[in-house]
Amino acid sequence: MEHTLRLGILGGGQLGRMSALAAARLGISVVIFTPEDHSPASLVAADTVVATYDDEGALQRFAGMVDVISYEFENIPVETVAFLKKLKPVYPDERLLEVSQDRVAEKSFLNAIDIPTARWAAPKTPEEALKHLEEWGVDSCIFKTVRFGYDGKGQARYTGNTNIETLWTQFNSSPLIMEEVVDFDCEISVIVARDQNKNMVVYGPMLNEHKNHILARTVVPAGINAALAEESIKLIKKLADQIDLTGVLTLELFVTKDGRLLANEIAPRTHNSGHWSIDACAVSQFENHVRCVCGLPVGAPERHSDVEMLNLIGDEALKIAPYYDEPGACVHLYGKTEVREGRKMGHVTRLREQTQPL
Ligand code: AMP
Repeated sequence: MEHTLRLGILGGGQLGRMSALAAARLGISVVIFTPEDHSPASLVAADTVVATYDDEGALQRFAGMVDVISYEFENIPVETVAFLKKLKPVYPDERLLEVSQDRVAEKSFLNAIDIPTARWAAPKTPEEALKHLEEWGVDSCIFKTVRFGYDGKGQARYTGNTNIETLWTQFNSSPLIMEEVVDFDCEISVIVARDQNKNMVVYGPMLNEHKNHILARTVVPAGINAALAEESIKLIKKLADQIDLTGVLTLELFVTKDGRLLANEIAPRTHNSGHWSIDACAVSQFENHVRCVCGLPVGAPERHSDVEMLNLIGDEALKIAPYYDEPGACVHLYGKTEVREGRKMGHVTRLREQTQPL
């Protein structure tokens, strides 16, 4: 007798949780691999393997429990994926992980396929950084660690008044990238899902507002002009084709004051700015992630409402009572018991009457 399809997900956070919930609806059972006990995803999954990402015995056991494997965050070691790939299919391919884990690889790849980014360089010393600033004819920039940066972590802004040596030492010798400061009008993102027959659909663009570098609010439609919206969709489709994506990826972009799009970051996965799709679309980003990696056809993401998505960060999750009474408000909590500053505890999607279908 045929058994139920089993999907393994590396990572136990809220993205894994929402993917597992979407999988359950399709009759697919999920096994989570995470170093964390009682992770948000394992609370709703069929099974969990708790072990570190380099525990080959545990990885082997995990691979034996599933038919196909994916991941829900980008800091999974590439070696873990390479090891698992010998045992079961893993999507998206580790090439996408390599590109999105390393800002130099990411920007080089984007630029090589003609997706514009802010001007950037990878200086080895403060002197080299100053030389680049001089060449660029500017006196400020943003330094970011090449690896393991997210939500503004591993970032510092340099202006002419900063002591560059002091700024440099705060990064403890981590390799750095420097970027020109973008004078942006707003920040947007687009999400693509591409299946094993190379069919793809796009969510967005979404308008994103950050507080303390963490996404606070997403609005759809984004309210940007139609040509830029179309261009953002064209760019992410090109990216998905060029990397031969199976699964979901997200592209974050700046809309500059002079009306250009500059790519900021690739996330090799579902994204916080697409959470609204659970409540406002026939097929959410999470369901499409599950569909694509499991060999099912990607589903049309048609949106039936306009939306505002509010993240519940830290103790905002303790003040949600009014949302339960608000018509059109959909409350999502991630099952995290400990409230910490800056921690994503849940989100609320507010459905509004639709004004335009994009
Ligand atoms: P990141 O970790 O690269 O996504 O950056 C986090 C946030 O910092 C972005 O969402 C922007 O708000 C801001 N930021 C990052 N890079 C730049 C840049 N080159 N110019 C202006 N703002 C930036």
